[in-house]
Amino acid sequence: MATLTKAVTIIGSGPAGLTAGLYSARANLNPLVIEGLEAGGQLMLTTAVDNFPGFADGIMGPDLMAAMRAQAERFGAEIIRGNVTAVDLSSRPFVITTGDDRIETQTLIVATGATAKLLGLPSERALMGHGVSTCATCDGFFFRDKPIAVIGGGDSALEEAIFLTRFASHVTLVHRRDTLRASKIMQDKAMANPKITFEWDTEVVEVLDPSRGAVNGVVLRNLKTEARKTLAVDGVFVAIGHTPNTGLFSGQLETDAGGYLLTHDGSRTSVEGVFACGDVQDHVYRQAITAAGSGCMAALDAERYLESIHPPPTTSSPS
Ligand code: NAP
Repeated sequence: MATLTKAVTIIGSGPAGLTAGLYSARANLNPLVIEGLEAGGQLMLTTAVDNFPGFADGIMGPDLMAAMRAQAERFGAEIIRGNVTAVDLSSRPFVITTGDDRIETQTLIVATGATAKLLGLPSERALMGHGVSTCATCDGFFFRDKPIAVIGGGDSALEEAIFLTRFASHVTLVHRRDTLRASKIMQDKAMANPKITFEWDTEVVEVLDPSRGAVNGVVLRNLKTEARKTLAVDGVFVAIGHTPNTGLFSGQLETDAGGYLLTHDGSRTSVEGVFACGDVQDHVYRQAITAAGSGCMAALDAERYLESIHPPPTTSSPS
């Protein structure tokens, strides 16, 4: 097992991690970016991205991530594929273990993201980015005047359903119970919206039609009556929550009640020298551009921290 010694190590290679890599590389910190098994993050699951500034005609999610990766590498970021198996933040340097390497690092930037929960259907996975989405802000625009379904009964599902009525001809909210988890105000808004109807006590058993490579319906099952029916829709938005990817830091970094890493004074976590950016510390905005912005913050915070522990030698002028 090889031992690497680094000033800055970044775990995660979505917009937050790669932007942190770009900025730390440009600060001559020779950062190491550990890509992880889901290299590129959630944008690898999307098709066209039309809301990332600078791309007037939009860009495909995987192409955007390839460009960010190339840009970070151009300035010297070292990017390795690897699954981090352990992180020890109890003393400095911090120690990160992957299958092949042991990395000793003075600072750590955590950009491990969050994973949208999915229903777990093979047809849902097959049509992800081709009519199935986990982000209304990103993909709602593609469903102008088309019927869609939103799955879930929490605030996210209702917020997405209400947002999507700007584009869709109709939104069917499919929820597995007959009461919503969402706040009363969101419930009132959704129920008052003439474009939203509800399928209660219902689950999606299949998304149609993987053989066409596009969504044209969902098969629904009523959990009380067992009755099945097909609902014709062009899009399916799964909004059943997210899980922040923080398992490696459990017991080492402070989190909120939902498991998201807590940050203060920019990107600082509860351990000095450890910074967090992107969706692993943000359950509110969750956008590629906000993740990239917070990656920049983490890199600048890490750079300033390194300067504070190893100040550059001062040159005294001869008297
Ligand atoms: P959430 O509150 O955990 O709700 C998840 C919903 O998905 C629940 O209705 C749940 O059903 C359903 N669900 C979970 N797993 C499912 C499955 N396998 N199949 C079908 N349905 C499933 O998640 P969230 O809506 O993402 O909200 C997360 C947090 O962010 C909450 O605290 C929320 O208040 C907050 N938030 C706030 C706002 C806002 O204030 N504007 C907007 C978004 C989110 P059950 O109800 O049956 O468990």
